[in-house]
Amino acid sequence: MSATFLGLPPFPEAARAAVGDSRTRQNLHKATRTIRGKRDAVVGELGEDWQRLRSEGERVKTHTLRHLDHYLEQLEESVQRAGGTVHWAADAAEANAIVTRLVHETGEREVVKVKSMATQEIELNNALEAAGITAYETDLAELIVQLGEDLPSHILVPAIHLGRAQIREVFLRQMAEWGVPAPPGLTDDPRALAEAARVHLRELFLRAKVAVSGANFAVADSGTLVVLESEGNGRMCLTLPETLISVVGIEKIVPAWSDLEVFMQLLPRSSTGERMNPYTSTWTGVTPGDGPQNFHLVLLDNGRTDVLADTVGRQALRCIRCSACLNICPVYERTGGHAYGSVYPGPIGAILTPQLQGMSSETDKALPYASSLCGACYDVCPVAIDIPEVLVHLREQVARGPGHTGEKAVMAGADAVFGSARALDAVQRAAGAVGGNLPRHLPGMAGKWTDTRDLPDVPGQSFRQWWNKRDQREGEGR
Ligand code: SF4
Repeated sequence: MSATFLGLPPFPEAARAAVGDSRTRQNLHKATRTIRGKRDAVVGELGEDWQRLRSEGERVKTHTLRHLDHYLEQLEESVQRAGGTVHWAADAAEANAIVTRLVHETGEREVVKVKSMATQEIELNNALEAAGITAYETDLAELIVQLGEDLPSHILVPAIHLGRAQIREVFLRQMAEWGVPAPPGLTDDPRALAEAARVHLRELFLRAKVAVSGANFAVADSGTLVVLESEGNGRMCLTLPETLISVVGIEKIVPAWSDLEVFMQLLPRSSTGERMNPYTSTWTGVTPGDGPQNFHLVLLDNGRTDVLADTVGRQALRCIRCSACLNICPVYERTGGHAYGSVYPGPIGAILTPQLQGMSSETDKALPYASSLCGACYDVCPVAIDIPEVLVHLREQVARGPGHTGEKAVMAGADAVFGSARALDAVQRAAGAVGGNLPRHLPGMAGKWTDTRDLPDVPGQSFRQWWNKRDQREGEGR
């Protein structure tokens, strides 16, 4: 059974353990700094055009989400007209049941997979395994994670937390269990590791009759699905098997083919720091004699319509999963992705996962707090998702729920003081009188704040008192 995010500890606990792992921190620091540098260079080349592209990406996504009912029906019609079959899945269980049934109907017991966040979200591999079907991940980083019985820690580079020596060790130990073994003299040279993966995967590509993918975009007017990848493994999965099943979140729609012009510039620059994506595969239904002859599209809701109903939180559905917000985030860089306890890590995970899953568990409730609110994620987001705004919005929902009694009492007190000029004056006078005699460290829960910073000195008089005295002095001088 593949590893699962279910039941992982809340962020503060997991982060404390993660920051103590200096090797992972080193790997993350190096990798995120490299990707950030590449992204900055290619975005910088576009000058002011970048902000225009960003606004257009935001506009297209916002418009599509506002008219999602229309575009979903249009997509369904287009896919069916092109020879594909469309299935609707309200939640993870329904999506897993549909995919399992479709694979069973082919008579096959194995599938090859294109890297897909949607299938990770629904834990498809576990559902297939429980039904006697083996799913083989073919993206290099996903392969490493699967062989190592590990969890992905980054949207784009799921094995970002591992160094090449660790990858070599995983290949030597596990490849033989899943197919072609790693060569005995395998070194940790990146080329040698890539070659071992290539030989291991090629046998699977040539054997598999069924492939499962996600999609980066689904074009409503033509029924075309689009996958962007860097290794060519996706192209193999999307062309060689007889049956292709694509599990796609309903927010992945764009209205027209021409809209891809915007996203084909935004996504590669924001994700891998490239001007152009190396392998972009598009397919429209079924083409006789060319590629898979059975195509199924599973449209996944799994909480998305609930997110859509939230006027602040819905902007998270604009996400094109580029990972730029992860790479820039000072919190992610120090804790890594596992600490979030969520398929979607980093800043986007902190706003998307609690909305998709609801905030009933302590792990989900902790996610909106997994941020310093520095705003760097908003600055780099190619579709201008105001992540800090959504984080604060979700924190408000958490704070309004059960618990947080101390915080609620403090806020009620602050409301009473700041709502009355007389009460504020009285509190300021009292604080001024105590002045420098206040303790440097606060007691109880408030002590967490003063553990890492000094309580500032309270001035002997408030601004208002100073102003009134100044007026008085000036009046006397006249
Ligand atoms: S929130 Fe924005 S920056 Fe983060 S992954 Fe999504 S599109 Fe990229």
